Amino acid sequence: MTDSGPIALFDIQAQQARIRAELERRIAAVLDHGRYIAGPEVEELEARLAAFCGEGVHCVGVSSGTDALQIALMAEGIGRGDAVFLPAFTYTATAEVALVLGATPVFVDVEETSFNLDPADLERRIALVRAEGRLRPRAVIGVDLFGLPADWPAILALCRREGMFALDDAAQAFGAALDGVRLGAWGDATALSFYPTKTLGCYGDGGALLTRDAARAALYRSLRTHGEGKTRYEVLRIGMNGRLDTLQAAVLLAKLPLFEEELAARARIGALYDARLAGSGIGIQETRQARAVHARGLYTVRFPDQAARERAMAALQAQGIAAGIYYPRPLHRQPAYAEAHRTAIRGEAPPLVVSESLASRVLSLPMHPYLGEAEVERVCSVLLGAARG
Ligand SMILES: *Cc1c(COP(=O)(O)O)cnc(C)c1O
Repeated sequence: MTDSGPIALFDIQAQQARIRAELERRIAAVLDHGRYIAGPEVEELEARLAAFCGEGVHCVGVSSGTDALQIALMAEGIGRGDAVFLPAFTYTATAEVALVLGATPVFVDVEETSFNLDPADLERRIALVRAEGRLRPRAVIGVDLFGLPADWPAILALCRREGMFALDDAAQAFGAALDGVRLGAWGDATALSFYPTKTLGCYGDGGALLTRDAARAALYRSLRTHGEGKTRYEVLRIGMNGRLDTLQAAVLLAKLPLFEEELAARARIGALYDARLAGSGIGIQETRQARAVHARGLYTVRFPDQAARERAMAALQAQGIAAGIYYPRPLHRQPAYAEAHRTAIRGEAPPLVVSESLASRVLSLPMHPYLGEAEVERVCSVLLGAARG
């Protein structure tokens, strides 16, 4: 099939064939004990994920990546009058949670080569918000887009200096690391998504919060269960129904033994793409951080212009190769967020040049641990052929 068959963006069924028996055993155990909410699998999973991220990290399973972000902001008491800084080039959920809580998202530009938050632009916009004095700068949500860690040393330094909460939206990057430290241990809190196509995905919705702060972890546990206190019918604060299902935890436990091996496969495939595309005029996603380990859920490249992207897409499509545009529109151009963007900084705010431009030039290529070398080669030769015209 490597010469002509279709190539999909993701393959979540290949993995299932390897772990089918363990999945069935894990699911049957839940059917037998019947604790579909807050069953023992949830705690077991939390312990394993915390240990994976390193010493002193706590993990709280929640209902989705979006709810993880929301709970993290709720725990800081973020709401009306607060500014939450986040990249303009990311998935919609990153900005949505700030607005749901009544806070104002302040869109920050990203870097051309890493596609992640530009620390210099972040610093500039925090200063602008402070100068206008209407909103309190409270939090930064850094996103590790497509599995590449954001510049956490720079983001954290700014957050410390400004007294702001650093939230890592690692929904696309679980398994990635920076300077030998896994994501989950970098931010004041880290949000994960277990949406099926993420690097660690369940069979439905799921997510988790990671933090080194025991008090925050306790607060997250309370918030995910309607703000409960020591007993179920003591309500201490406004929370939500944000629990992780026992069945989803069981699915994730069956998948965890493969996770490291799958991350290694993702890294190998990423390196193959990088090597094949280097010097071709097709831009690969890179970071200044010398010791960054990717956990790619998508392999995303950038073209010199939109026309080149369209030629590449047409060539791939003609060969039955899937490709996707993540994301075709920067968030400040979304109808739902345009008003928030206009009011966040009233004066002359610098335009979000790179975010606008990348949205018209990026293309995501097939990436999953079961992609063969010959398939990567086929994708690259079609791309390079299209680039040559
Ligand atoms: C997937 C994703 C989310 C949301 O996760 P869900 O589990 O789908 O709610 C948030 N942020 C980013 C960057 C994502 O890719």
